Amino acid sequence: MARAKKKNLAKKRTSPAGRIAREQSLAPEPNRLLKVWRRVLERRLRTRLKASVAVEVHDNTHTMLTFQRHRALWRVRLHHMFLVASDDIIQALADYVRHGDAQASVTLDRYIERNKAYIRRVTPAQMRKRLRLEPTGQHHDLGRIFERLNERYFRGRVDAAITYGPAPRVTQPRKSIKMGSYSADSRVIRIHPALDQPVVPRYFVESIVFHEMLHHVYRARRGEDGRRCIHPPEFLEHERRFHDHARARAWEQENLDLLLHARVMA
Ligand SMILES: [Zn+2]
Repeated sequence: MARAKKKNLAKKRTSPAGRIAREQSLAPEPNRLLKVWRRVLERRLRTRLKASVAVEVHDNTHTMLTFQRHRALWRVRLHHMFLVASDDIIQALADYVRHGDAQASVTLDRYIERNKAYIRRVTPAQMRKRLRLEPTGQHHDLGRIFERLNERYFRGRVDAAITYGPAPRVTQPRKSIKMGSYSADSRVIRIHPALDQPVVPRYFVESIVFHEMLHHVYRARRGEDGRRCIHPPEFLEHERRFHDHARARAWEQENLDLLLHARVMA
């Protein structure tokens, strides 16, 4: 009690300028502010999606929005530019998340275009510095495969790095496997470590690397129906030019089980 009284007295004696200084020093720390803004966005999305929403805010440079449904919960990861979006943009976000609505997708693209000043500029080389690239493997040397494909099919013009991806922690039997991915942010191709086995033929690994190299060449674009198309017709046409395309696809059909059950050492 005595303490409280003392505090009150002290407050009375503070000059206006002193009070301003005090208030400034009480400004919420950035992390707390972000948490508040994130909660507000969650609420705005929740009322429109009529479902639970968990929002994660990031500062990515290429992928502005991803989402996934986990039973009754929507997990939405998005760029911080959406924290201050107006209601029509939030509605478009909800429509896109729920139905993949084409018109909503166009609205969101325009919003991103208008707000691109908020997108951090990072060179792929800067992003790559933070990654540990491990292209060598036990059986298939991705660096070599990449170089040879680059020479043979792209006149050495694919300026990307390649690595085996980290071994995913999967405890249950897999139903599908993502054998490769390409990040436009860092220009890094990641190959699933399950492919680094002697039973996986070289031509199959090559076909996966070739596919990811094509993602570097052909960026996702919008189809006639307004939907984002990550494998446009010219991509698929180009993919068939790989000399072992048919053999690789046939091997995949026959051996998918082998890949799904691969025990990958971390
Ligand atoms: Zn693909």
